[in-house]
Amino acid sequence: MTRIYFDNAATTPLDPQVLQAMMPYFTEHFGNASSIYSYGRENRMAIESARKLVASSLNIKPGELFFTSGGTESSNMAITCSVRDLGCKHIITSPIEHHATLHTVEFLKSLGLVDVSYVKLTQDGHVDLIDLQQLLERKNAKTLVTLMHANNELGNITDIAYVGELCERFGAIFHTDTVQTLAHYHLDLQKVKVHFISGSAHKFHGPKGTGILYTNHMVQIKPFIHGGGQERAMRAGTENVAGIVGFAKAFELSMLHHDEDMVFIRSLKQYMKEKLSSAFEDIIFHGDTGEKSLYTVLNAGFPMNERTEMLSINLDVAGICVSGGSACSSGAQGGSHVIKGAYPHSHRVPIRFSFSKHNTFEEIDTAILKISEFL
Ligand code: PLP
Repeated sequence: MTRIYFDNAATTPLDPQVLQAMMPYFTEHFGNASSIYSYGRENRMAIESARKLVASSLNIKPGELFFTSGGTESSNMAITCSVRDLGCKHIITSPIEHHATLHTVEFLKSLGLVDVSYVKLTQDGHVDLIDLQQLLERKNAKTLVTLMHANNELGNITDIAYVGELCERFGAIFHTDTVQTLAHYHLDLQKVKVHFISGSAHKFHGPKGTGILYTNHMVQIKPFIHGGGQERAMRAGTENVAGIVGFAKAFELSMLHHDEDMVFIRSLKQYMKEKLSSAFEDIIFHGDTGEKSLYTVLNAGFPMNERTEMLSINLDVAGICVSGGSACSSGAQGGSHVIKGAYPHSHRVPIRFSFSKHNTFEEIDTAILKISEFL
């Protein structure tokens, strides 16, 4: 059975060119980057050129970039270090952040280290920027604002340049999870007043288990993982050289073909939206599906009934991979905290379609046919 993969916000297939760039670091270049002889030096060079490439595209200094094991570790590090090293006693976040953020924040709160405020959301699931400003105005304690650049389920994009301005005005530290936007958009960090960003390679055809944390040189944090002196003693552990090389290669390729890929993927999303709307008149779309939304993500809401609750499972049996559609009413799963956070009174079955350059219009036609058969 040929499978159709519409879950690119969960992960993307590895680009063969990325694998090719990584391979020598699994084989002949097996050295430890900390070793001073040639096997080590060639690995050190690979890591530092990867760092330079990514740093230059983000318009930051290489010294501000740390390689990590992914978005989860990066967000854990940014949030924990803001509290431990930068004196943040109050965290403002939103109820629809990724669990890498929410669970870290809740853990720090459970230790009694911080108070937490959850910013209100607008009707279409955007962060309410007026409420954010009021929260910043109200609190005297040093504050960390941690808000994602784009939501992985709804696709909504937050204006991080504006949030950065607000944070600067109120002396707050700002961390943003850019896992869904890094290498999908041009990002110039000199234009965003941000202290930390988290990113992850597997969302843009790179390897799993490799991420970055940008740390603005204006903030001084202490080591997060203790051990050897790797990553300038901030993040110990023998470097995942193949992963780091793969991160940089995937990043380079994504940015190289960015403009045409974006136009194509956006047209897939638009086509899917139109096809769904004409085939199912009672469908809605979660989030903002317009300009302030990822071109890769479309979250449909089907009216809840026995057939729609089984839809993602039936699509899987038919070889079509989508996410969401959790059976909230049957209690089989807890349902999405994002949908619950943005639409607390919803009786819809959410199905997230997320696209990449490998998808086609024909795949969308096939999916629409299958959905019609199941509903
Ligand atoms: N943040 C967002 C928005 C994500 O979509 C993900 C991945 O699912 C993560 C963080 C976690 O990243 P990683 O899988 O690299 O740990």
